[in-house]
Amino acid sequence: MGRLDGKVIVLSAAAQGIGRACAIAFCKEGAKVIATDINEEKLKELQQYSGIQIKVLDVTKKEQIEKLAKEIEKIDVLFNCAGFVHHGTILDCEDRDWDFTMNLNVRSMYMMIRAFLPKMLAENSGNIINMSSVASSIKGVVNRCVYSTSKAAVIGLTKSVAADFIEQGIKCNCVCPGTVDTPSLRDRIQAQPNPEQALQEFLQRQRTGRMATAEEVAHLCVYLASDEEKRGEGEVGTLTHQLPLLE
Ligand code: NAD
Repeated sequence: MGRLDGKVIVLSAAAQGIGRACAIAFCKEGAKVIATDINEEKLKELQQYSGIQIKVLDVTKKEQIEKLAKEIEKIDVLFNCAGFVHHGTILDCEDRDWDFTMNLNVRSMYMMIRAFLPKMLAENSGNIINMSSVASSIKGVVNRCVYSTSKAAVIGLTKSVAADFIEQGIKCNCVCPGTVDTPSLRDRIQAQPNPEQALQEFLQRQRTGRMATAEEVAHLCVYLASDEEKRGEGEVGTLTHQLPLLE
């Protein structure tokens, strides 16, 4: 018996990094996974898993989102994972960086939730997981101005959806990882003038002495996607997962 047997899970940014690890983990736990991304080439690597169906989706495009929502009859879990890291302070952030980041990191989630929530409400049951970050309202991180702003907005969006719909059977949580070793993180390190030094600086920031892995974040997402998290009396909304920043 898998922990997600029979569940239909739609997720974005599934072609690499955390999204890919989650798509595989969801599938291994018995879910029927609809894995989406803009990168069709990399997405195809997931076709080796019989429980994963791939779909090309740009989450900044409303018409593509609405088309996908129409095609999918039933959805149990929506995992909004797509996001982009802009490096720099507010003075390094041009209008186009601001708009691109807010569109991809926040507006996409607004559009995805609006497209899929009515289907969940019709069933009186649904589960939404949003990808935030410890770089948000949780922690001030250098050179992450628009990124942190966008991820703080994701926390606000999550808590708001949770508060509005918890009584109608909808769970909404977000995950807030620390630094996770993913292809885009490696690219960001390589883009620094001294990549080796940049890697060491990333590692020194980690109190555990290492970065989290995408698979570790996927364990948490499996838990959130499952029915193991009881809808209790406690506060609904944000589950902060600060792997591996312990503070
Ligand atoms: P990544 O950057 O390695 O991969 C991102 C994926 O998103 C790629 O497959 C890319 O093709 C896809 N993508 C980009 N634009 C898209 C669009 N418009 N529509 C659909 N897909 C698109 O991913 P990652 O580092 O695993 O990060 C995934 C999420 O986790 C992001 O939201 C990120 O902000 C968040 N996060 C990452 C870390 C980290 O340290 N890596 C830490 C905290 C939070």
